[in-house]
Amino acid sequence: MKKRKLKLKKQAYYVLAGIMIIAVSIILGMNYYNDYQYKKTTEYKLVEKGYTIKEATKIQEKLKEEEINKILEKEKNDLILKLLEEKYFLMKNLDTYIEYQKKEEEKELKDIVAIVNTHANNKWYQKELETDYNLKEKMNVNKFYALKSDYTPENLIEISLNYSYGKNKLIDYAYEKFIELWNAAKEEDIHLMVNSSYRDYEEQKNIYEDYKASRGEKKADEIAAHPGHSEHQTGLVVDMTSLKEPYVEEFKASNAYKWLKEHAHEYGFIERYPEGKSYITGYSPESWHWRYVGIEVATKMHNEDITFDEYYAYYIEK
Ligand SMILES: [Zn+2]
Repeated sequence: MKKRKLKLKKQAYYVLAGIMIIAVSIILGMNYYNDYQYKKTTEYKLVEKGYTIKEATKIQEKLKEEEINKILEKEKNDLILKLLEEKYFLMKNLDTYIEYQKKEEEKELKDIVAIVNTHANNKWYQKELETDYNLKEKMNVNKFYALKSDYTPENLIEISLNYSYGKNKLIDYAYEKFIELWNAAKEEDIHLMVNSSYRDYEEQKNIYEDYKASRGEKKADEIAAHPGHSEHQTGLVVDMTSLKEPYVEEFKASNAYKWLKEHAHEYGFIERYPEGKSYITGYSPESWHWRYVGIEVATKMHNEDITFDEYYAYYIEK
């Protein structure tokens, strides 16, 4: 009797031991499998490159899979992490940011991103891009983007002499909004006057050549556009001052200019070459040069405090 009990007990031990061995195998197997699965993840690959889990998570939040693969091709780089924090970071420019930063170490990253995005890391007029005029009021014309010599906007309308010192033209839809802006300003006792608006390729060519002859090429490039590179050829621009302050020096300090800075975007107009942004726009500040881009774009630019070049680079050209 006693012997049989002992035998049963022994059997129970074997069963128990068997179960335990199976259980441990399963757990080990699962661990091994999980490990195997984890090693296939992007997080693991980033950690292998030297990024912390926190950094890896950040990279994954900001970038798409194929973009991360590009990062995995490079050595771990803290600059990449800092660039990812920049609002207007564009993955396609990553290599150029890094390259440019090496040359311009003292510059803030925010500026490096803005400069590279807007092609301003290139010499003026050295990189020729063709303006997409199908974008209409969103087309970009600057030191890099140019219109063809034969581009003439459709539906140019002559600006009433109530608002203009001489014969000037604007595209119809921009003119409609200009009148609204003009009336709103008038209610504040501001009488805006247009000095210049649409100019064709030939006219711009003459202006630029005159400046070049009288002031030299460097100065001419700062203040006048090469033909094809002038926004005035779009028919979306007015150069304006006020009746009370017709000269640019006084206009810059005027109430009229202040009012435009605060309200022009409500009518789709923007200050194209603001103070302190020459390193992006390529132009000295022009308080008189206002460009129609539509209310939506103008409002976004106003809220984000960015130039049209930056807007175009980030939201249209990408
Ligand atoms: Zn102008």
